[in-house]
Amino acid sequence: MSCIGIVGGGQLARMLALSGTPLGLGFIFLDPASDACAASLGAHVQGAYDDRRQFRRLAKHADVVTYEFENVPEAAMECLSREVPVYPNAAALATARDRLREKQLFTELAIPTAPHAEVNSLDDLERAAARTGFPAILKTRTLGYDGKGQKTLHGPGDLGPAWSELGRVPLILEGMVRFDREVSCIAVRARNGETAFYPLAENLHREGMLRVSWSRPGDAMTLQMQGYARRVLERLDYVGVLTIEFFQAGDVLMANEMAPRVHNSGHWTIEGAQTSQFENHLRAILGLPLGATEPVGHAAMVNCIGQTPDPAAVLGIPGAHLHRYGKAFRAGRKVGHVTVRADNRTDLEARLNRVL
Ligand code: AMP
Repeated sequence: MSCIGIVGGGQLARMLALSGTPLGLGFIFLDPASDACAASLGAHVQGAYDDRRQFRRLAKHADVVTYEFENVPEAAMECLSREVPVYPNAAALATARDRLREKQLFTELAIPTAPHAEVNSLDDLERAAARTGFPAILKTRTLGYDGKGQKTLHGPGDLGPAWSELGRVPLILEGMVRFDREVSCIAVRARNGETAFYPLAENLHREGMLRVSWSRPGDAMTLQMQGYARRVLERLDYVGVLTIEFFQAGDVLMANEMAPRVHNSGHWTIEGAQTSQFENHLRAILGLPLGATEPVGHAAMVNCIGQTPDPAAVLGIPGAHLHRYGKAFRAGRKVGHVTVRADNRTDLEARLNRVL
C-alpha cells in the first residue's frame, strides 16, 4: 500500500485522505496542531513547518509527498525533495507562494493580469500608486489568504498608514480590476504529461473569502481559461491539481493568483464531477491514469463559515450533501461546506436558495 505524506492536516488534507481511502492508500500528515482535522484518517506527525527533523520523519514513512498549502518554506521543500518525490515540484511551489512571481509568470506566458508593481519602500509605494491609480490593493507577496494581508487604498492619504501596517515584508500593489465575475480553473496534470480540466467554476467572494462556487459546464469562457491553464501546467512541468483564479471583465480573463493544490472552488467536484479534484490529485502524483473530469449535472458549493448548519435541515433538501471538517467552531473559520446538485440550473438555484 502506498503511503502519501501531506504537509498540513487541515480540511484539504482530510478530503484528500477521504478520497484516497477506497484506493487503499495510507496517509501521514505533518501539522503542528494537536487537533489537526485530518489526523483521524492517518498517522500524525506533530511538528512545526520549519522543523527539519519532522520533515525527515514524514519523508521516511511516505512514498510520495504533497502539501495542502503553498506556504511550505523553501528550505523544507529542499530537504523533503532530497529524500522522496514531492509534487507539485519546487518551481511550482516557489512561484505560487509569491504573488509577484505568479504575476511575472502569467505575463511571460501572455496571460493577462492586473496592473501591478513590486513595493519594498514607501517611495516604491508612491511610484506604484501613480501607475495603478486609485482604488488599488496593497498585498503581502507571501502568506496572505482569505483576504488577510491586504489593504484597499482609496487615495494618497491611505499610502502612509497602509505602509506602516503592512510594510515590514515585501509587498505588491495591484490596480483594482472592475470585473464582472470571478471564475477559477481546476486543472490536473499527470506524471506522463496527460492533462484534464474541470468545468469552469464561478465564484462569489465576500470580505476576501470564498462563499459560493458554481460549476458552469459549457461556459463561454472555458476554452480561454483552459488554454491559459495549460500554458502554466506545461511551463512548470507540473504534476497534480493546479488552480488558477481569474477576474472576468467583458470577454477578457485576467489571472489573479494560482494555488499549487486542490482548492476550495473545486469542492463541488466531490459530488458534481465523475472524479473529484482530490482523487485526481492523488492519481496524478502517484503516476496513475487520471479520472474523467466531466460534470455530473449542475452543482454548487456553499462554505460553512464559523459553524455548520443543522444536518437534518440541510439533508432534507434534495441533492444536498453536507461535509463537516471536524474543526472547532470559530468566527471566520471554514468548518464545512454543503454541495447541492441538480439536473438543471433552475432546480439547482431553487435548492441552493434553500441552503443559503
Ligand atoms: P486574493 O487573496 O488575491 O484572492 O483576493 C481576495 C479577493 O479580493 C479576490 O477574490 C477579489 O474578490 C478581491 N481582489 C483581490 N485582488 C483584486 C484586484 N486586483 N482587483 C479587484 N478585486 C480584487
